[in-house]
Amino acid sequence: MINLHILGGFQEYGRNCFLIEHEETDTRIMLDCGVQNGQPEVYPPLTPEIAQSLDAVFLSHVHNDHIGALPLLADMGYEGAVWLSQASFAQLDPIQQHWKQKNSAPYQITAADKLRFTPFSPESKGQSIVLSEHLSFEWGHSGHMLGSVWYIFRIGEESLFYSGDMVLDSITFQTEPPAQSAFQLAIIDSGHGGQVTSRTTSEQTLLKALNDSEVSYQIPVSLSGKACDLILTIYKQLPGRRLFLDQAVRNHLADCLSYAANLNIGMKERLENLLRDERVTILTTDHASEAGIYFTANKICGTKFIPVDSAAHPELFYKAHPDQKDVEKLLQSIQAERLVFFHSKPQDFSKLIAYMPKELTLNGGVYK
Ligand SMILES: [Zn+2]
Ligand SMILES: [Zn+2]
Repeated sequence: MINLHILGGFQEYGRNCFLIEHEETDTRIMLDCGVQNGQPEVYPPLTPEIAQSLDAVFLSHVHNDHIGALPLLADMGYEGAVWLSQASFAQLDPIQQHWKQKNSAPYQITAADKLRFTPFSPESKGQSIVLSEHLSFEWGHSGHMLGSVWYIFRIGEESLFYSGDMVLDSITFQTEPPAQSAFQLAIIDSGHGGQVTSRTTSEQTLLKALNDSEVSYQIPVSLSGKACDLILTIYKQLPGRRLFLDQAVRNHLADCLSYAANLNIGMKERLENLLRDERVTILTTDHASEAGIYFTANKICGTKFIPVDSAAHPELFYKAHPDQKDVEKLLQSIQAERLVFFHSKPQDFSKLIAYMPKELTLNGGVYK
């Protein structure tokens, strides 16, 4: 029997951290090791006993709510491998720098140096990677951001699906369905499961909100698949307009080209064109001196703010996780004796459970 200990991420948007235990084979793995974003960040309840008993850690992608607690895990004595995709691995440098500069960290800053990141190659996609007699895994792209993956684990005689953060219809990034469909346990991202939000409608509303070519607009973005989608869409749909990208966002788009196997068909060329185009420039000040569309998380003075993340502006909301319809679609190809929906706020989780057809969720019971 696979035992699941949820250390964060259930009825919670952030702090994703799951401990998987298989007593028969004495196997213990951790899926993601994140913090709840905010001031202060909230850490999962890790202990030295947990850290020192793990056989392996697997990361779905490099967002803070999936990896931010890794230095604490190392500080508590974890010395094993931290598996992740090569594209995720390539993005770690600035993150590790940030860990070492954190004043408020609940770990010694040198702990970050102890982490033994172990990337798997793009060529290993869909293949079984055997770690021991009792443990093997397989991965595929999950469409959420550069390097994001889902996992299938085989532990003893049982199998487990972990979606990580997933986007089924990203414009930029590929999502592959898992080849296997029946699992003992499936842990599925339902981040936007409390709503139905169409990508086409969000796009149309957004383009309408950006209608004045004399105005400076700011779209707040972090390094994410959502940022790539928004930039590529606006670049294509508003051909006369100037786009200003902050340096980190610009670098991130260039990184995407280095891992083109992550991208949907045609997106490599679209990204190359965008990065070559004179109307796309690097943002150098915090003041909007020219009309155009500014992509950065930092406040730019003199712009009209377009809130693509805000619950207060559902019409402009642009999804980065499965909504109700996406979860339903996922469950048509993934059957599990036990299902766990994670990454949802409590009110979204309740709405999702109330909405889901019982035959899809109750083959063994939904973890509540
Ligand atoms: Zn994420
Ligand atoms: Zn997340």
